[in-house]
Amino acid sequence: MRNRQFINGKWIESTASQVFDQRNPANLDEITGQWPQGGREDARAAIEAAQAAFPAWRALPPARRAELFTTLLAALLRRVEEIARVLTQENGKTLRESRGEVQSAFREMEYQVQEGARTASRMPPTMKEGILGYERREPLGVVAVISPWNFPFNVPCRKVTPALMAGNTCVFKPSSLTPGVGRIFTALFEEAGFPPGVINMVVGAGSTLGQELTSAAEVRAISFTGSTEVGRRIHRVAAEAMIRTQLEMGGKNPLVVLADADLEQAAAAAVEAAYACAGQWCTSTSRLIVERSVAEDLLQRVLARVAAMKLGNGMDETTAMGPVCGAEQLENVLRYVDAGKKEGARVCAGGERVTEGPLSRGCFVAPTVFAGVTPSMRIAREEIFGPVLSVMETASFDEAIALANAVDFGLAASVYTRDIEKGLAFVEQVSAGLMHVNMPTAYKEPAFAFGGVKASGFGLPEAGESGIQFFTEHKTVYVRYR
Ligand code: NAD
Repeated sequence: MRNRQFINGKWIESTASQVFDQRNPANLDEITGQWPQGGREDARAAIEAAQAAFPAWRALPPARRAELFTTLLAALLRRVEEIARVLTQENGKTLRESRGEVQSAFREMEYQVQEGARTASRMPPTMKEGILGYERREPLGVVAVISPWNFPFNVPCRKVTPALMAGNTCVFKPSSLTPGVGRIFTALFEEAGFPPGVINMVVGAGSTLGQELTSAAEVRAISFTGSTEVGRRIHRVAAEAMIRTQLEMGGKNPLVVLADADLEQAAAAAVEAAYACAGQWCTSTSRLIVERSVAEDLLQRVLARVAAMKLGNGMDETTAMGPVCGAEQLENVLRYVDAGKKEGARVCAGGERVTEGPLSRGCFVAPTVFAGVTPSMRIAREEIFGPVLSVMETASFDEAIALANAVDFGLAASVYTRDIEKGLAFVEQVSAGLMHVNMPTAYKEPAFAFGGVKASGFGLPEAGESGIQFFTEHKTVYVRYR
């Protein structure tokens, strides 16, 4: 049976006649669900439902909204395992990674609920006697949440929670590669008793359904996570309609290792952040920039860890790395591996698809390490979004900083050194939204802003204080009382 959209509190058939099959990336013969290729009419129905639900939802005191989220959070905790299994089947990441994603989503939701329940007013003293001045923050109305497939539970959670806590209603579009995770996410709101229309979910192509969501007159804000190319396109369309955007996009994150670093820690961090979720984290390490005098030593430590990694179906508890997410993603990654070879980088591990045994039916790329990578190579500049690490040597700290900055992206960056002065100089001089000293590039916490700069991020970052701020507008009030 084909799956349904969630509009105005009901799971309803899409108006679309076209359907598509979602397949398990660990075995492309296995269909995990059949979905409608929703179009403009579905987006319209969802926007209208959200618009109709807005007045009552905004009038509900934040404490009441928080109560609904408290019910949801309890259900989420009970269902971690069930959600993790759907996630692994659709996305391919290991069960351990899927559980981690759901738990991380739980913590982020909990934080944003508390943040949203606090007063949003500010009341500085006025210059004149008898005048009271204050600033309120108010909800915007209908907001669109557009999510990628790589963190299909955590990303919508990080966006929808502050949007709703602030009093907005929302239309959520999951990626067509992970609609089942979108369904289970949305069902949690239904089961917790959120009123009809407060959250709606539609599935379909970005070019039709997505286009409507990003240009409709009723939509006041778009929170998007995905590729830089699509983010740019959405921003152009949204700018015309004066819709505010929050764009979290691609990365090419460097991990810099200086000669004085603890090499074992640095190797562990590089491997963890390069190959977790098969390298499909926006904050994964994709460039390992290392001072020449310790380059060979570090490379050997990295290779030893990579050799010990077990590739397999994510449902198998002993698997360290699963497949990449789908046939298209597999092709993209292999194209980059090919480009690296042609441009003269040295393959030290992996460098190919698994074509034998049971994994040959899935989208498995062996964890790949390229050494001898130079700045002009495509694998040094472009986002690969797969299990591929490019190792680059540098002659000095200054050159390492220049290399770290020599890409269009600016999401996450890390330096390993025992010299705190150099660590903090790195923080000052490298352009990225998430900076780490002696920590993996993928580390994050819910109380802190999450987002990139340059081609990695546009608009207010997510999480922390700005999570709620993005979904509100200000109103300044002056009252003469004497
Ligand atoms: P994508 O850009 O292809 O798609 C993202 C979402 O946008 C999907 O739901 C897609 O259907 C939708 N979409 C596509 N065209 C659209 C349009 N014209 N209008 C409206 N919506 C449209 O990205 P992806 O392949 O799903 O995800 C991978 C990318 O996401 C990588 O580049 C990765 O770095 C990035 N990402 C960034 C962060 C971050 O926080 N910076 C986090 C996760 C992923």
